[in-house]
Amino acid sequence: MQCLEHPVEKLRSVLLSTRKDLIEAYEQYSREEKCFLDAGLLPGSLLFTAITVHSDSDWISAHPEAPQDFQSFYSNPYRSTPDTGHKTIYIQTIGSFGDGAGITEQYVEWLREYCEAFYNGLTVKLLPAVTVAASSCTFRVNSNTNNLQLHAGDLLAFLKQRKPKDAFCIVGITMIDLYPKDSWNFVFGQASLTEGMGVFSFARYDDDFYKRSYAGRLKKAIKLKPGDYSVFQGYYTPPISSILLLRSCKTLTHEIGHIFGIKHCQWLQCVMQGSNHLEESDRRPLDLCPICLRKLQCAIRFKIADRLCYSG
Ligand SMILES: [Zn+2]
Ligand SMILES: [Zn+2]
Repeated sequence: MQCLEHPVEKLRSVLLSTRKDLIEAYEQYSREEKCFLDAGLLPGSLLFTAITVHSDSDWISAHPEAPQDFQSFYSNPYRSTPDTGHKTIYIQTIGSFGDGAGITEQYVEWLREYCEAFYNGLTVKLLPAVTVAASSCTFRVNSNTNNLQLHAGDLLAFLKQRKPKDAFCIVGITMIDLYPKDSWNFVFGQASLTEGMGVFSFARYDDDFYKRSYAGRLKKAIKLKPGDYSVFQGYYTPPISSILLLRSCKTLTHEIGHIFGIKHCQWLQCVMQGSNHLEESDRRPLDLCPICLRKLQCAIRFKIADRLCYSG
């Protein structure tokens, strides 16, 4: 295991930047806010620790990317910022979730509340649930794993039509696996950052997904008819559990973070770290490191203390 420890002076310049106006803007934070951000950079901080690389299959080893400091985030002309007419994050569920109406409602409400606490200052709303058929998306059976999959691009086209005028972004979530194109095996999600849209599947967060006994595998090779969505009636979706809720909260806040223009974090352990596999995403903490927190704060303009003390 390798520990990616950056010197504290380096982290400070990544957080403050080298631009005079951005350093002055940092000075505008309250004493408590600066104390909180600064303390998080120190080695041995209880809140934020160095990134650890456990194997070559971890994101940082497998996907070398230029790290993004606060200044490069701030200067990116293509990043999205909420404004007075676009301050709502919409969540659209697609297809069934869990096996009972009560638990499904509670689960999506917890997810909504969590996103609202995380994106303090924005409103998060649930759009009425839709069936797979209502999305008119293409679907297939994966020839290796024998489970049903939805075409991610078709779902994005559907979300584009559903996106309300006051949306900052719209994110679709589904318990059914996704694929981006015929030649690909699967995809966890797909997004259009410029259009403020994304669609993500939690199907592979089921601990049994990769087992032979996985209940979402279709028993025999059935012939699907395009446009006949009856195969989704009663189709298996993962049971709602606390670990599934935790994984969904992390994924959703991470992906919405990308819509703001926050890239994968390479500074400290942070929910914006890239992840290549489930064990690595489970390792990620729930919250943003001080550097990514400043990026989000500068986009939404919340008070850092209000966000930390959110009470609904
Ligand atoms: Zn990511
Ligand atoms: Zn970070």
